[in-house]
Amino acid sequence: MSVKLELKTWGNFIGGKWVPSTSGKIKPNINPANAEEILGYFQESSFEDVKNAVESAEKAFYDWKRLPAPNRGKLLVKVMQILEKRKEEVSEALTREEGKSFQESLGEVNKALNTLEFFAGEGRRFYGETIPSELPKNFIYTRREPLGVVALITPWNFPVSIPIWKMAASLICGNTVVLKPSSLTPWTAVLLMEAFREADFPAGVVNCITGSGSVIGDALVKAPEVKAVSFTGSTETGRKLQALAGQHGKPIQLEMGGKNAVIVLNDADLDLAASAAALGAFGSTGQRCTATSRVIVEESALEQFTQKIVEKAKLMSDSLGPCVDENQLKKVLQYIEVGKNEGGKLVCGGHRLKDSKHLKGFYVESTVFSHVTSDMRIAKEEVFGPVLSVLSAKNLSDALKLANGVEYGLSASIFTQDAEKVFEFIDEIEVGMVHINSATIGGEAQVPFGGMKNSGMGGREMGKQALDFFTEWKAVYVDYTGSSRKTNFY
Ligand code: NAD
Repeated sequence: MSVKLELKTWGNFIGGKWVPSTSGKIKPNINPANAEEILGYFQESSFEDVKNAVESAEKAFYDWKRLPAPNRGKLLVKVMQILEKRKEEVSEALTREEGKSFQESLGEVNKALNTLEFFAGEGRRFYGETIPSELPKNFIYTRREPLGVVALITPWNFPVSIPIWKMAASLICGNTVVLKPSSLTPWTAVLLMEAFREADFPAGVVNCITGSGSVIGDALVKAPEVKAVSFTGSTETGRKLQALAGQHGKPIQLEMGGKNAVIVLNDADLDLAASAAALGAFGSTGQRCTATSRVIVEESALEQFTQKIVEKAKLMSDSLGPCVDENQLKKVLQYIEVGKNEGGKLVCGGHRLKDSKHLKGFYVESTVFSHVTSDMRIAKEEVFGPVLSVLSAKNLSDALKLANGVEYGLSASIFTQDAEKVFEFIDEIEVGMVHINSATIGGEAQVPFGGMKNSGMGGREMGKQALDFFTEWKAVYVDYTGSSRKTNFY
């Protein structure tokens, strides 16, 4: 369904109000499916805007943290209800600024709704523990405490669900937030702010400033009022911010890149494996952190599997969305050149789509390389586009060595009918999320999400585990001996 959306200039959301940047600068937001279409104008924020946003969040913090957690949850439910009503409007904005299909956008918005529902419920489960004391008539308990103002820096590829899962988790814990969305996807971020405003969130609890990462992202990390940073994006930026946060003595949570592998053993249902690998590799134009970018196939199934994956890739090529912008398109095309030069065999795709339907956008064909070896860059580096590398393995242990032999560890899957091999895979694979006989993508709100190695650090997002990053524990010792106390303090 098509919803009419008006072109306008959006402000920053600070202290419960829409305000222009003190820089006086705005930037157009471009549709990646049609680079001639401007979707709206957004603030190019300054250091001063960062200062205003963090001060507003700090001012709101003490009242917000004193609001009982179940009541904080009720406000998240209101946001969920508002977004539910606006599902189509937000999905359409998401499709038009990021490029994923409308169905994929609806899926992402639904994920955000599930996440709000889950974290709203966590307000009623904001538990600590009671702990037995060594002393009679004493007991000890623990409670979670919020950290204060938290900076949330998010990428363009899931511009609805990632900001929501960071905001919902930090807010339910009693923190106030400043969101810095990707400069490529500010529209969905401001639509989310509208929902928080309409849900009557107290002014300053949620703030959002748009603009360049290197200007305002850095300033946010350094701002003294910011007590912690939750970042999702590339490993390169994440590592830079980790160093900066370290210099300023702040905890940082990092969700970063991936090079996710599917292992296909020779007893697997090859049709199922090829469908799942194609969905993982080419769905959302390969622009998912959990996208499948390597398939490691047991030698005897290699030829048959390669044939099947090429068929599936060709079928999907015409329906793929665009790369998010021209830079991303160039990066993908460069990796295709790298793959060819390194000796990978291009068995499908490999070109920009330039027919009349695709001419104005940043489209590239679904691309498959066979004969890829582990030393090639296309087998090791994150491409973040619809490019799949097929590698060959002698057996499961060889496949595991290949799958683990990269710097990343986000998600992986295996296709086999052999239960023993499934469990060996689960034991040995070095990733945060494991799938059996299904694609490497996806995640549910109540399940911890994140990676190992250079894919993630600082604790998981989503699930109840997400509360661990956004809170500190306070241990409370209660002595109720009163006047019957026999011992003196010593
Ligand atoms: P990116 O690192 O370029 O940008 C991420 C965010 O950081 C943006 O808001 C950006 O403006 C900001 N930023 C950029 N440079 C900065 C700087 N110097 N200082 C402070 N902030 C800065 O990443 P991207 O291109 O937006 O997103 C794609 C990447 O995100 C991929 O690598 C993908 O794997 C990763 N990702 C990971 C997960 C996960 O959960 N592991 C989920 C989604 C995306």
